[in-house]
Parts: sequence; structure tokens; C-alpha cells
Amino acid sequence: ATASPPTTTTTTTTTSDDMEALWMPFTPNKLFKSSARPRVLARAKGMHYWTTDGRQILDGTAGLWCTNAGHCPDPIVKAIQDQVATLDYCPSFLFGHPKSFEYANRLVSELLVPDTKLNRVFFTMCGSTSVDTAMKISLAYHVARGDGTRYRFIGRERGYHGVGFGGLSVGGILNNRRAYASCMIPGVDHLKSTYHRDRHAYTRGEPEWGGHLAEELDSLVSLHGASTIAAVILEPVPGSTGVLPPPRGYLRRIREICDAHDILLIFDEVITGFGRLGRGTASEYFDVVPDLITCAKGLTNAMIPAGAVFCKGNIYDALMNTTPDDGSPYIELFHGYTYSCHPVAMAAGLATLDYYRDQDLFDRAARISPYFEEGMHSLKGLPNVVDVRNIGLMGAVELEPYPGSPGRRGHELMERCFEDGVMVRQTGDTIALSPPLIVSEGDIDVIVDTISRNLRKLR
Ligand code: PLP
Repeated sequence: ATASPPTTTTTTTTTSDDMEALWMPFTPNKLFKSSARPRVLARAKGMHYWTTDGRQILDGTAGLWCTNAGHCPDPIVKAIQDQVATLDYCPSFLFGHPKSFEYANRLVSELLVPDTKLNRVFFTMCGSTSVDTAMKISLAYHVARGDGTRYRFIGRERGYHGVGFGGLSVGGILNNRRAYASCMIPGVDHLKSTYHRDRHAYTRGEPEWGGHLAEELDSLVSLHGASTIAAVILEPVPGSTGVLPPPRGYLRRIREICDAHDILLIFDEVITGFGRLGRGTASEYFDVVPDLITCAKGLTNAMIPAGAVFCKGNIYDALMNTTPDDGSPYIELFHGYTYSCHPVAMAAGLATLDYYRDQDLFDRAARISPYFEEGMHSLKGLPNVVDVRNIGLMGAVELEPYPGSPGRRGHELMERCFEDGVMVRQTGDTIALSPPLIVSEGDIDVIVDTISRNLRKLR
């Protein structure tokens, strides 16, 4: 189906001269800028983008796993416009504004499950700053309890936790770390990735095999000593490295081991938060409660940059108890950003939460996930496909790499799909999908057919 662009679009093309000054993030700049038809987007509405040269593109990835409510929903646009014209900015240190308190309260009461006691919210700017914040809160918490020897973090191979030095250090992607190896934070160790090609290929949802891999955490505790470990940080479902659903029982066992040794557990839910698995959080989906959750992206439907850390009340209380109530201006946590609690982000967040609720988007995602799963797995058997994985509205198709040129086949498929009107996410030779939660069965058919058609054309 062809949707109309939101307003009349004057079509333009972008040339390599136009693109000279910009250093594009996580992009092969030379290749992009030399392309005859660079992927340059001008407008968006609902499930679609429109390029500057007027082509309509169906969004199979919610931007970068983030526009969960679809593009430019009217009520969120209006809330942002109203807010920026009313209170453009408010210092987040020493001053507050009503919407930041309101949004924190509503996240606690409406997004998070009350029994979890995740009832404090620290606002950041993005996923990377949420991860740094959660790591710093973890260290500060142990210091506050007189347990300051706990300085280590345990991450995981194939984990992505953004690009700050903290997130890079606990992350497990060589390309992201290589040039900065000398500056990784000390004391970090990594669990093995749970993904196992032979055992996991073509599984749907949580693989049955691999829950026992959580015992590796026990080995790391024995190796380093529990009294040196501050926290374990994991994506419940690693997304950027190719959608790797956790083996059944794995997360629960990690929780048990952390509990046994007073180690904090951080779930990085920058992708999985806000309905991606058909629930408010992956924590709720898997019924495993961490001590801290990092999020961003769906927090404001990505329409204004923002992130947040949810943490358990006892962590907040431990920090509050470090200072006396004698009227002196003691700061309990020396941390924050100029753009923490940004009024426009808070307004966007409140309107986003309303929109998720009013449109019943988390349940909708849960209801359409089986159809998405069938569509994804229909790609099995097509040329070069070596695996298909999915959970909720996240899915991945993994391709056999071109000999000697990893990532090339994945990149070519992404380019071909875009030329054919569908945006997919390429990571190495894996094509990931994470459509907005408003996706219809017809949209899923178009996305899957486009991938299928172009898979057959690949060398
Ligand atoms: N953590 C996870 C799990 C992510 O997927 C991402 C981004 O995709 C980040 C952290 C970093 O977020 P940002 O790019 O907003 O800094």
C-alpha cells in the first residue's frame, strides 16, 4: 500500500559535495558518500519514511529500534511543540519542573511492576549515558554501604552497551573496543555469549538449550572473589549483535547467583524496554527482576533524545543515608547531565506513555508477534540463510558471509531492500528487524517478501 507523505515534499537529491563535512556515526562514510543514491530521509509518518528524492520506505526497524509508536504520532508532536514554547529548558541541578516529577512517578506506577520495587528514576540523555549512570550508581551504592572494594563489572561477549568508556568496557564487540583498548575501565570480565549456532539455529523465542551457561558467573565469582564485584550488566536479549534470545532459565539463574553474592544485576533494556517484547520491560516478560534497568529509545519514542535508569528503592535509600538531615546542602550522588530531565523530553515521554496506553501498543505487539515469527521463519531455506531467530517484535536473519569479506552480503541485502522500499538493519551479515509496534500483518508481509525477493538476487 502506498501512504501519502505528511505534507507535500519537494524532492531533492544529495550529492557527495553536500555530504563532505559530516562525519557519519557507525557508517562506512566513504562508501555512503560515493553512492549514486545515498539513503537520505526527509519525512516520516506512521510506518513510513520518505527519502529526499521522494521514495516511500516501509520502516522495518523502528528507526534504530526506537520509534516504537511509529513516526510522528500527532499527540506526541503536539506535546513537544507545546512544551518547547512554554518551558524550553530548566536546569536539572538544584531546580525541578513538574513534568520531570510526573514522568518519573508515572513510569514507576504505569510501566514498572510494583512488586519489583524498581521505584526510582534517574533521567539521562541516551542509552550510553544510562549505562554509565547505572554503573556509577552501582559503585556509589557499594561505597555507601561500606563495601567499596566492589569495583568490578561483569559484562558479556556480544553485549552492546553504547559507546561511553563504561559501556564499551562491559560490552563485548571487538570492533567497538579495538582502537580504545588502552582505556578500558579496569577489572571488567565477560561471560560467554549464550548463542550457539549448532544448538540454537532456527529457534523461536527462548532456546531450550543453554540455561546452564549461567553457571559461568559462579566461576567468575570464584575467580575474582564476590567481594570485588559491583554488578553484572546484560541485555536480556542482545539486539545490536543480532537478536540473541536468552536460553530458558538463564536470566533467572544469573539473578540467583547475583543474590547469593550481593552483586547488583543491571538489565540494559535500551532496546527491549517499552513494548518490544509485548510487555513494558523484558524484566516483566521474563519475570526476572534486576536491581537496575537502563533504557532510552522508546522512552520518548526517540522523538527527543532521552534515557533513564530505573533502580530499586533500597539503592536510592542507601545513597540518601550517606548524608545527615542537618539542613546542609549535601549532594548524595555526584552525577548528572545538563540535559537530565529536559522539559521537552519529559513532555515527549509523558505523551509517549499515553500513546502506548491509548493505542494498547504493548498488547498489540504481543498479539502480532506470532505472525511476525511465522513471517521471519518463512525465510528459512532461502539462499545463504544460515539462521533465523526471533522473540517479541525482534527478529534476525543471519547469512553466510562472502568468503573473505564479512559484512558484505548483509550490507548488500540491506541496500537492495532499501532500493525496494523497505528499511532493515544490517549488523555484519545479520539483518535485524524491529518494526514499530503499530506494524500490521500486511506490513509484515511486505517486509518479509522484500527480504525474500532480494535474498534470491544476492550473489
Ligand atoms: N544499550 C543498548 C542495549 C543499546 O542497544 C544501545 C543502542 O542501540 C545503547 C545501549 C546505546 O544507546 P545510545 O545510542 O542511545 O547511546
